[in-house]
Amino acid sequence: MKNLCILGSTGSIGVSTLDVVAAHPDCYRVVALTGGGNLSRLEEQIRRFRPLVAAVVSDADASRLREALGPDRPEILSGIEGLIACATCAEAEMVVSAIVGAAGLMPTMAAIEAGKDVALANKEVLVTAGPLVMEAVRRRGVNLYPVDSEHSAVFQSLEGHRRSDVRRLILTASGGPFCHRSLSELKSVTPADALAHPNWSMGRKISIDSATMMNKGLEVIEARWLFDIPGERISVHIHPQSIVHSMVEYVDGSVIAQLGIPDMKTPIAYALSYPERLTLNLPPLDLCALGSLTFEQPDFARFPCLSLAYEALREGGSAPAVLNAANEVAVAAFLGGEIPFIHIPAVIRATLETHRNGPLQHIDEVLRADRWGRAAARRIIDSTP
Ligand code: NAD
Ligand code: MG
Repeated sequence: MKNLCILGSTGSIGVSTLDVVAAHPDCYRVVALTGGGNLSRLEEQIRRFRPLVAAVVSDADASRLREALGPDRPEILSGIEGLIACATCAEAEMVVSAIVGAAGLMPTMAAIEAGKDVALANKEVLVTAGPLVMEAVRRRGVNLYPVDSEHSAVFQSLEGHRRSDVRRLILTASGGPFCHRSLSELKSVTPADALAHPNWSMGRKISIDSATMMNKGLEVIEARWLFDIPGERISVHIHPQSIVHSMVEYVDGSVIAQLGIPDMKTPIAYALSYPERLTLNLPPLDLCALGSLTFEQPDFARFPCLSLAYEALREGGSAPAVLNAANEVAVAAFLGGEIPFIHIPAVIRATLETHRNGPLQHIDEVLRADRWGRAAARRIIDSTP
């Protein structure tokens, strides 16, 4: 029996995690849950999984939730303190980090510092603060298991092999809903078009990141820190079928890949149960029915977000945190109808161009870079006609 805290339990990853837990009630107990919105879903989850503690963003939401649950309820906390209290709660052995965006950074760091193993879905944690997070993981001797499907695939493809024998990581990308749209077609795509991902059903922010391919850029940075491989040795292949989830190329030319149908329950389950595997009732992968798997080079001209991420990784310091902050602001502005799709990379580039890079030695410097990046991106959006 493993005790779990799920940060972001009301989101796409959170709900899939609870599906895995519900299928294996003898293996997992939920001790803490947190949600940012969608109170009724959180209420339902609390009634069903009976955690010891839960947290929401605002005091008002906490009051509403207490009232809705009545006297027989767990402790309900709020704000960043509430998230951190859940992430560090004494009973939790593993924390599933599934809040979206840089908002997940501090609770995840707190979990690591408290000695919890972490199942990491939130890639923004490693994008913004990779070196500091990995230093804390080593210092505290905790395990950090990837939930992101590409990183789970790399993790699985590395098992039983020496890191020094790795030549290259190859991350696969579906290419998103606009994989084969021309630049001029991209000018007029709407949020609804961008949210319609061909293979994966995900939260809104990551769906837009998939459409711009910033998602793959963030994943390159995530992989750099998780596996300690420099960005020059991480390639991206477009693979529209999303069956090969990623690959590792070794010095002898062998390439080892992990395959499966695109369902996040597989990588979530592996992060929860490593080194064992949980039985999941998913349809089997039928390669013969698929017939062919295809691969192509990404088009950096149509998807400049991918180059921006590689550049920020090369620059290092606070550049990736600023890249991420500008991206979060630009994606929200696109979803809110403020800017067209192709302005997303333009806002990020303009933000990075005005940024003065500095070293990241402390988590406060990450938070400062994040705030600076958000404010700068906001100004750029407001000043663009
Ligand atoms: P989502 O939007 O569906 O859910 C996000 C969760 O975080 C929700 O519970 C929401 O209430 C909570 N939240 C949002 N803002 C918050 C805030 N400021 N404070 C506290 N809680 C807040 O997102 P998702 O698709 O589940 O993605 C979660 C993370 O996992 C992201 O970092 C994403 O990149 C990563 N990820 C997702 C998928 C996927 O298939 N959905 C795959 C790989 C990685
Ligand atoms: Mg992924």
